[in-house]
Amino acid sequence: MVVDIISPYTVAVAQFDEAAERLGLSQSMRNVLRAPKRELIVNFPVRLDNGDVQMFTGYRVQHNINRGPAKGGIRFSPEVSLDEVRALAMWMTWKCAVVDIPFGGAKGGVICDPHQMSRGELERMSRRYATEISILMGPNSDIPAPDMNTNPQVMAWMMDTYSMHQGYSVPAAITGKPLAIGGSEGRLDATARGVQVVTKAAMRHLGMSPESSSVVIQGFGNVGGITARLLHEMGCKVVGLSDISGGIYNPLGIDIPTAMRFSREHGSLRGMPGTEPVTNRELLELPCDILIPAALENQLTKDNADRVQARLVVEAANGPTTNEADRILNGNGVMIVPDILANAGGVTVSYFEWVQDLQHFFWSETEINQRLETIMSRSFNAVLEKATNQETNMRMGAYLLAVSRVAEATELRGIYP
Ligand code: GLU
Repeated sequence: MVVDIISPYTVAVAQFDEAAERLGLSQSMRNVLRAPKRELIVNFPVRLDNGDVQMFTGYRVQHNINRGPAKGGIRFSPEVSLDEVRALAMWMTWKCAVVDIPFGGAKGGVICDPHQMSRGELERMSRRYATEISILMGPNSDIPAPDMNTNPQVMAWMMDTYSMHQGYSVPAAITGKPLAIGGSEGRLDATARGVQVVTKAAMRHLGMSPESSSVVIQGFGNVGGITARLLHEMGCKVVGLSDISGGIYNPLGIDIPTAMRFSREHGSLRGMPGTEPVTNRELLELPCDILIPAALENQLTKDNADRVQARLVVEAANGPTTNEADRILNGNGVMIVPDILANAGGVTVSYFEWVQDLQHFFWSETEINQRLETIMSRSFNAVLEKATNQETNMRMGAYLLAVSRVAEATELRGIYP
């Protein structure tokens, strides 16, 4: 079988180009907005538990910082590449602009398999990576956060490392930290809560009710797992779930608290009683009303998009749909809530965390969730309105909003010198 290798950056640039064309941006503006501003590659040694020294490669890319400091997560995965990090950084620029928070876009990653590393090795790698990218990091310049396979503990080590170099604590240099060291209430659930808000809004738009809607979610990590819980609590029937070991299906509905317990106790969802196993490929094609990819890029492609049965796709992951798949799904009348809107809840509460750290004054969980809901529903409505006025789909609506905001900032600031 020939497997297409799809470059996430090519996908990201093609999406931008289409928006730039529709907006009638000048060629000069297109050239500026297409290019990542900074790309840092770091190769660094880490001492392993057995005494050997292993070299690791990491990246930090800032795509555009015209609307504010660079913001975006850090992922640890064997699949990390410069091409992927570049795409994710560009998506962060548009994501921050869609929800109108004052940040530019960035992303980072280290090529590694965190599941094969001890806690000590992970800590030493995280600290050394933070040191290597500290020439970019800072509360006013570039503020990392969690992403795939990184968590509040990793953020704590990185915040401590940066602070040790400064000689004093700088909580605002990184978000997604534990509460005890300047983290924010609600940050852990934030991406999933944002997904819930836009899913609810899209359902209302399509005239769907939670009780009569079935949901399939790909990915059972921080985003997929909590989204499953929130939609289950809302009354939706979650019929399919998956994690890296494969998928499970029950057309009558899966009890999410039981699935969470099972996954915690067994290390995966595989073999959960009362469900039948499905492959990751089959999962995406299961009969359902709502499909939520919450794992990796390039999951919906020209090879499976035609077989998607859902009428609503909510992109909790970054870049889960290729451009060809996007055209097929739109052609089939599927509504897609695009990644740069759907998963923006995480960076929105990261923004709240940064603001709280800077002002040394913290908000309650209720305040955080209310502000998050306000921003996510306002953004959903703005994107829907743009898409309707411009007679286009939600992805293009989101891009038109985001790219015009970044272009306006770039125009106003002008070209230095
Ligand atoms: N990694 C998350 C994302 O892709 C959050 C980024 C952040 O909070 O800065 O949006």
